[in-house]
Amino acid sequence: MALDLDISLRGPDAYALTRKAVDQMEQHQVWPTPLNYELWIHYVNSPESDLASEINTLVKKRQPITEAVSEDLAARYLTRNRLSEEIRDAGDQLSRELASVTEALEKAQETNAAYGRTLAGASKDLTIDQEPPALKRMVETLTAATKRVQRENSNLEQRLNASTDEVERLRENLEQVRRDAMTDGLTNLANRKSFDEGLLSACAKSEAQNQPVSLAVIDIDHFKRFNDTWGHQTGDQVLRYVASVIGRVGMKAPRLAARYGGEEFALIFPGETMDKVIPVLEEIREEIASRLLKRRSTDEDLGAVTISIGLAQREAGEGATLLVERADAALYASKRGGRNKLTTADASAVAA
Ligand code: C2E
Repeated sequence: MALDLDISLRGPDAYALTRKAVDQMEQHQVWPTPLNYELWIHYVNSPESDLASEINTLVKKRQPITEAVSEDLAARYLTRNRLSEEIRDAGDQLSRELASVTEALEKAQETNAAYGRTLAGASKDLTIDQEPPALKRMVETLTAATKRVQRENSNLEQRLNASTDEVERLRENLEQVRRDAMTDGLTNLANRKSFDEGLLSACAKSEAQNQPVSLAVIDIDHFKRFNDTWGHQTGDQVLRYVASVIGRVGMKAPRLAARYGGEEFALIFPGETMDKVIPVLEEIREEIASRLLKRRSTDEDLGAVTISIGLAQREAGEGATLLVERADAALYASKRGGRNKLTTADASAVAA
């Protein structure tokens, strides 16, 4: 559950809270990045929260809090906060914009009304035997009033054009916020929230239109060992590498590739049977295994990374949870069967 905290970093307690957060970060060997800083401020400020209890569990299990772990915690506990702040900011800007346009409209309305009054007065004063000087004054008054109203209308037009641009900019900002909220920061794939929504909607559509939907879950083999041996920064790069191959190999919409959790990925294939999907997954598996990676900092050979895959096709009446469970069970069959392979949910290993 996302945190709903409003921490005020002002006032006498602010420095103490900050020092406590930094101490904790140092103690647990977490870099003071802006993201970690935010997480640990929440941690020390709300020791009873779900976030704090999850961090405590990680610490107890001596599980390092890597960039990937922090991204995952932030996505689950902080997103709503950040999102609501950005939406609130955009809302404030929109209100200011509306107020300013309303003001310009009111001003133009006043000018138009005054112009109407001037015209009405002139038409009342106009007589057939008007003297030329009086007629001249009247024409001058009307000309000045017409110029004023033209100026005001042109100002209004400019203001409305500027406002249209501003509203378009805000719309793009909000679209970016929406995209960020659905994206995993480390890998740039869809995040867990986006996956959950995507799978629910794919299952509902599959049921309504009697169409297939397939789901693949992918786990990086021996990732923990890899992390322990080469360090977490390299582990994070392996996650990025696997994600980049997944993204490269034919995952265009309506297909959806997501980071499902730590080193697990999930791929939704709406409207596609397992038979159609297997060659795509095999291509991903083979491409990942074929490349020898290097540790960027030292140029040491890291060897190849392999993945295990579980694949399931939705059965009539089946919900998202059961589909995920069957794909997960197939994944574990791949792991038990020696890894670097794909297993379909009917338990037959397709490739070794
Ligand atoms: P990145 O480091 O940000 O690299 C992005 C892309 O730039 C790579 O996409 C690749 O097309 C290119 N690139 C970067 N460095 C090199 C290089 O030294 N040689 C070559 N030939 N191309 C390079 P790609 O290959 O899809 O990798 C995506 C991400 O996966 C990388 O992001 C990095 O985080 C990770 N990765 C890929 N290969 C390795 C590797 O051998 N070692 C490590 N540590 N990470 C890797």
